[in-house]
Amino acid sequence: MTCPHCHQTAGYHADRERTLVGLCGTLHYRRAYYYCRSCGKGSAPFDAQAGITPRALTPAVERLATLAGGVCESFERGAELLDEMAGVHLSEATVQRTTEGAGRRIAQLLGQGMRFGPARRWDWHGDARGRTVAYVSVDATGTRQQGPGGAAAEGRMAYVAGVYNPSPPDWLLPAGQAPPRLQARYLSGLYALGELGLLLRRQAAQVGMEEAELWVALTDGGNGLEEFCQTNFNRADLVVILDFYHAATYLKELAQALYPQDQERRQEQAEEWCRLLKAEGGAATLAMLRAWDWPAPRSAALREQLAKVEGYFEKNLHRMEYPEYEAEGWHIGSGVVESACKTVVGQRLKGAGMRWGADGAHALCHVRALYRSEKGQWEAFWNRNWTKTKDYQLN
Ligand SMILES: [Zn+2]
Repeated sequence: MTCPHCHQTAGYHADRERTLVGLCGTLHYRRAYYYCRSCGKGSAPFDAQAGITPRALTPAVERLATLAGGVCESFERGAELLDEMAGVHLSEATVQRTTEGAGRRIAQLLGQGMRFGPARRWDWHGDARGRTVAYVSVDATGTRQQGPGGAAAEGRMAYVAGVYNPSPPDWLLPAGQAPPRLQARYLSGLYALGELGLLLRRQAAQVGMEEAELWVALTDGGNGLEEFCQTNFNRADLVVILDFYHAATYLKELAQALYPQDQERRQEQAEEWCRLLKAEGGAATLAMLRAWDWPAPRSAALREQLAKVEGYFEKNLHRMEYPEYEAEGWHIGSGVVESACKTVVGQRLKGAGMRWGADGAHALCHVRALYRSEKGQWEAFWNRNWTKTKDYQLN
């Protein structure tokens, strides 16, 4: 064979035995071993052809270990889960390295413009006026702070982005019809926003987002996120909505500052404000808060939270017209993207700071996003069903 290291001729040396971890336990096998006299390195080409990992796992065990490492809250738990469900004993370090190795491959393939599985056009659902609607969302995790003056959110922040086709609200579904299953593609990693844009547009193109009549972008108002949507999904009639549930947390914190000691009153107050926000929108809610009969003297916590709410609402009023959005039959929350990846990615990044480097976190984000994406994506990656995409820009 040709030596993969120096490209000289490497002669057959012997059949060498090796031990593997497979789904049914330890496996012994023999494969041809070649030795290169020029550079002194040996190779066993069968291992690469069969997809044996550097830590001597079969492809099936690699896939399971990656899943366990990706869905559990820690690699240690992942190793336990793998043992419990498949009787495969791997160390925490092996689960970690295997998960991260797979994540790096996913990132690399996406970066090269590879598509997992065949192209498919989603059947976009309609809104109240019968227009088909596609949704896109992007969110930063790990740090929630929005620095004054809008400090750039580059560097070590993880983003979670998605393109999705959620079920229309119940009142738009024909009577008795079960809501259709959510279709979604997610991306996550420690990207700069600029890099993420191209990757997300590719995913959007692969599911035929261009064919949806209307595009809705949901964000929590974080730095650069609305701009990201405007730049990458640049239609004149792009609808940008501030995630309702994010706005609601500001009101909940305000209720907390108003009634720090009384949980019941605080909950009632928060619910009342949130109902108003949904029914009347951001401007009416802000006006109501300004006219509110606040207790005198106000506590420092209350003053601070009130200022925060006012600042946040003022900045985002143009995308808080919730009653109008709901009347159109659009979604007002990006819970889809949050529940898919954010919680776990966020939790792991926060707990992870000391234990893993950025490289590991980036890899883990990819495993998680791919696994939570629509059925077929994860399978296609592992079955090596990849094709190069024809890149094209959305609008
Ligand atoms: Zn060589």
